[in-house]
Amino acid sequence: MYAEEVAAMAGRIRDEDIALVRERTSIADVISEVVTLKSAGGGNLKGLCPFHDEKSPSFNVSPARNVFYCFGCGVGGDAIKFLMDAEHLGFVESVESLAARAGIQLRYVEDDRSTPRARPQQGQRQRLVAAHAAAVEFYRAQLTTAGARPAREFLARRGFDRAAAERYGCGFAPDGWDLLTKHLRQQGFSHDELVTGGLSRPARSGSLIDRFRRRLMWPIRDITGDVIGFGARKLFDDDDGPKYLNTPETPIYKKSHVLYGIDQAKREIAKQGKVVVVEGYTDVMACHLADVPTAVATCGTAFGSDHISVLRRVLFDSDERAGEIIFTFDGDAAGQKAALRAFEDDQRFVGRTFIAVSPDNMDPCDLRLAKGDLAVRDLVARREPLVDFALRHVINRFDLDTVDGRVEAMRRAAPLVAKIKDREKRPEYVRKLAGDLGMEIEPVQRAVLGAANGQPAAGRPAPARPGPATPAVDSPRSMVEREALKLALQEPVLAGPMFDAVEAGDYQHPVHAAVRVAVAAAGGAAGATGGAVWIERVRDACDDLAGQALVGELAVEPLRIDGEVDPRYVSVTMARLQWSSVTGRIRDLKSKIQRINPVSHKDEYFALFGELLSLEQHARALREQAAGGL
Ligand SMILES: [Zn+2]
Repeated sequence: MYAEEVAAMAGRIRDEDIALVRERTSIADVISEVVTLKSAGGGNLKGLCPFHDEKSPSFNVSPARNVFYCFGCGVGGDAIKFLMDAEHLGFVESVESLAARAGIQLRYVEDDRSTPRARPQQGQRQRLVAAHAAAVEFYRAQLTTAGARPAREFLARRGFDRAAAERYGCGFAPDGWDLLTKHLRQQGFSHDELVTGGLSRPARSGSLIDRFRRRLMWPIRDITGDVIGFGARKLFDDDDGPKYLNTPETPIYKKSHVLYGIDQAKREIAKQGKVVVVEGYTDVMACHLADVPTAVATCGTAFGSDHISVLRRVLFDSDERAGEIIFTFDGDAAGQKAALRAFEDDQRFVGRTFIAVSPDNMDPCDLRLAKGDLAVRDLVARREPLVDFALRHVINRFDLDTVDGRVEAMRRAAPLVAKIKDREKRPEYVRKLAGDLGMEIEPVQRAVLGAANGQPAAGRPAPARPGPATPAVDSPRSMVEREALKLALQEPVLAGPMFDAVEAGDYQHPVHAAVRVAVAAAGGAAGATGGAVWIERVRDACDDLAGQALVGELAVEPLRIDGEVDPRYVSVTMARLQWSSVTGRIRDLKSKIQRINPVSHKDEYFALFGELLSLEQHARALREQAAGGL
């Protein structure tokens, strides 16, 4: 598809110029503007794919070959292709953007290849970005005029001097109906371009008028630094519009993705592995000036999942490396609600989310004014994990001096703890919650387990063995994994060979996998004779603390079979364990195959399809084995 487009378009930009753009462009530089890349060895780089949602990096870049390729979704190509996909540009726009970056003057050819001349119209995105760049200059020049005094005073009152205003490109939209519109029309921008870009709008009379008037203007940039919209603050009492007005949705401005300040903050965010989310333009400026260079803000919308995706790619937030997201909130209800809502969103994200609430309910801008730069840095440093913050706010609503208050607080707080996906962290929070409530651990633990199983917190009998360091026994998968480990520890002579044949990767729970690894490190179950010595050897070989505790527990827990253990029971158990793992792999493979274009990636498609067929065959065999048909 790409090659045809190149062929169709290449007549418009000279071929040698396209080749020059390819040659002078560093694909690593282009991609690093959007995705944080780390070394993948062999001179290659990797990061989280911007084209599909993933937890560990399968997006690879080869600077030597000037190409990228994602093993997860199969997207790949050169720098031109990357910009086309990442920024939804056409081929010509993408080449133009790279040429501008590399300082290459493109020459265009129409029908007659021998007379290159400047092409009159560029791609839409380039045009809208150019119109915004011209608007920034216009507004900036206006900021020094007499009419802009309230704008200058506003900035000064918030602690921003001229240098700060210049660094962020602040400007002033003058008092007049169509001053910007006329200015941009004179520069050759069309009626449609000004409307489409959100800079002007048609009046009732049909003529164009400026969208922003008599306001302090902040240019909003995308991650690469192009201005794509504006935020405009009201300055005059007789302005009956909202306090802040933003560019509407346009082909280049999507508020669900936009993060103010990301262009200036992205390098520090990647370097420090954390980002500070504040609420307004002045807060971003105040944070950056106070030496919290990782601050960004959403523009006229709540922080949402698209923002998370943008930040995760900059943070390189993967299973291997976790990034920290710190929200600053006024201590008000809206902020609390937003924090609690995060529980409903991306669960992986919850454990890395922190809340920084100013003690005096001041936003970072006010805080810097009142107490200086150090206080802003201190606010961020005194962040609190989201879970702690949320629990505190739930508990604080109840009178903990009464038994009823404590029980009710426990009932409300238990579902929050139960929602923590990272099960290793749950016991820690159960203890913390019990401590905060002044209750025993046991009832709190029961309430959390009840909430995790979707049952009411009260009136449920305690589970048989609520060991705090062990994963909850609440899924068939978890149960079969435990059973396999019990067989290796308690019946190594009988179960050894079959147990050793199933790898740690087939165990879903990390603690179970850790014990499986420890069995191998202790010499494998097949060679063991059992007894206390064997258990000790496995425990010593386990470097996971929770795993060590689990070894002791599984060594004595009765097997789930009435009577003697026989080879059939071992076989059924191991088959059920593998079957879960294989069906998971089949699911992943199917979704991967669906995302591949069978025409353009024929070889890969057939390779994966072959893999799927053999896995399905394997799964059928395992299911028969699991049913006991030896
Ligand atoms: Zn991908």
